[in-house]
Amino acid sequence: MKLRWLGHSAFELISRENLKILIDPFVSNNPACPLTVEELDADIICVTHGHADHFGDTMEIANRTGAIIVGNHEHSVYLARQGFDSQGINIGGSIKLYDIEINMVDAKHSSDMDFIDEIGAGGSASGYIIKLENGRKIYHSGDTGIFVDMREVIGEIYQPDIALIPIGDRYTMGPKDAAIAAQWINPEIVIPMHYNTFPVIQQEPTEFAERVEAADSKIRVVILEPGQLYRE
Ligand code: ZN
Repeated sequence: MKLRWLGHSAFELISRENLKILIDPFVSNNPACPLTVEELDADIICVTHGHADHFGDTMEIANRTGAIIVGNHEHSVYLARQGFDSQGINIGGSIKLYDIEINMVDAKHSSDMDFIDEIGAGGSASGYIIKLENGRKIYHSGDTGIFVDMREVIGEIYQPDIALIPIGDRYTMGPKDAAIAAQWINPEIVIPMHYNTFPVIQQEPTEFAERVEAADSKIRVVILEPGQLYRE
């Protein structure tokens, strides 16, 4: 399995069977992303919410690759009207595509579709638990504040192995809350995201890492540079 951070909350996940999953592919307007849209391939694109810094280049990539787009019901209705293969799910629900199981979970955030000219209501913001063919579970929280489901639903029921959580503050959790969230989720590995893309979400990821490690040495913090791969 390979997981490449594309900066902000954008990740490319490539399974052992070589299935390519993009999450929140904010690429062309992402000052932190070292790749171009044309360099990315996808079988599945998961969108956590309708903000342009997450929805990003979803339509352009899906147009070129024929990727299936997974999003909430409201996004899927909008995308189906544009002719895309969009699969709507909702919080608590799941979908199996190829051998990948995708569960939508809650997030505490907003989700208006601000990528279209007339901003449209975009349903609820969400996160995903993506279970690969080998059983490894990756949690991408989307944009969110800390909330108690991270402990009682995501941590205890879904039990992800790897958690991708925001630390940028202002629009999401900052390092202090994110370190508590990491303990609640209790994964093997936590990777911080949604920081240092723009000046207003400037953070020092080592502060987050120190807080997590001080509270629980069993959780490994992996800090990636944009473009860098985590592999196992
Ligand atoms: Zn957002």
